[in-house]
Amino acid sequence: MTDLPALACEVCGSPAAGVFSSSLGAISFAYCAACNAVGAEPYGLTVGYVATCCDDTPDAVAEWLSDVVAATAERAGKTVAEFWADVKAEAAKPMETT
Ligand SMILES: [Zn+2]
Repeated sequence: MTDLPALACEVCGSPAAGVFSSSLGAISFAYCAACNAVGAEPYGLTVGYVATCCDDTPDAVAEWLSDVVAATAERAGKTVAEFWADVKAEAAKPMETT
């Protein structure tokens, strides 16, 4: 039997406790206990999600998503203001066609 590679938290890169469902939708990620405990999500995905679903200001998201944003920014070593600046930059990009 082949050994599986070590599972890394997709939020912070630490060893993960397992794969769990994301609060952002029908998708799962590997999370460590610390990121799971605060509800943090992978940073880039969260920026893209908010830029797509909502608007580029804090008033555009529900309270539960504000909590996810705060936890996600903190675990990524960023401020909430930096998160919203990244959302604004992402939302300004032209749509890609496939
Ligand atoms: Zn983590």
